[in-house]
Amino acid sequence: MAVPIDNAAPTLASLGLSPARPLVLVDVDEVLGLFMQGFGDFLAGEGLEMRVEKFALFQNIYRPGAVEHLDIVEGRRLFDAFFRGHCDQIEPAPGAIAALNRLADHAEILILSNAPADAQALRTRWLQKHGMAHPLILNTGPKGPIAAGLTAQTLHPTAFVDDLLSNLDSVADHSPATATFQHVADLRLRPFAPRSEQHPRIDDWAELGAAIEAAVRR
Ligand SMILES: [Mg+2]
Repeated sequence: MAVPIDNAAPTLASLGLSPARPLVLVDVDEVLGLFMQGFGDFLAGEGLEMRVEKFALFQNIYRPGAVEHLDIVEGRRLFDAFFRGHCDQIEPAPGAIAALNRLADHAEILILSNAPADAQALRTRWLQKHGMAHPLILNTGPKGPIAAGLTAQTLHPTAFVDDLLSNLDSVADHSPATATFQHVADLRLRPFAPRSEQHPRIDDWAELGAAIEAAVRR
């Protein structure tokens, strides 16, 4: 489903979602999909290395044998190229598909991903390929404003899942009634990922799915 990039939230109806059920907003990279692994594989094809040594992206890209990470501008160019042509190659996070399908029995699912606009078609295809054919919105910047615009359209409980505290904090600020959960899919990244007591951190998808279900069925 093609949804224009716009900070104004589209209506749930225009996304094919019902306001008469709970609403769960779910991130893609490091939540539903193994982005660092997929981007790392892409970089390897470009003769580069992804070293997961800190909770960062461009600062983890190196030429083989180099001590200094790749120039940030070059990293960003590779990032854009990955989303333009290769972001449908990532592996789903373990357990994500089954948990999301279970949740869909009780809630409307909306995929809210921060990615370049031209990733819309590939990312949609990736979701469909893996049995997660839920509406997709590509966002830029903090997710709180658009999340608030979406959650305001239902009187039912809402939940939000992301790996980044900046997005979790933003949603908590703009949509305080929404239950927030942190999930970090990549095993190598988990030890480096900052956490917050404000957002339960659940890295196992079966456990996360059950927690989300409990939050939206209350
Ligand atoms: Mg993410």
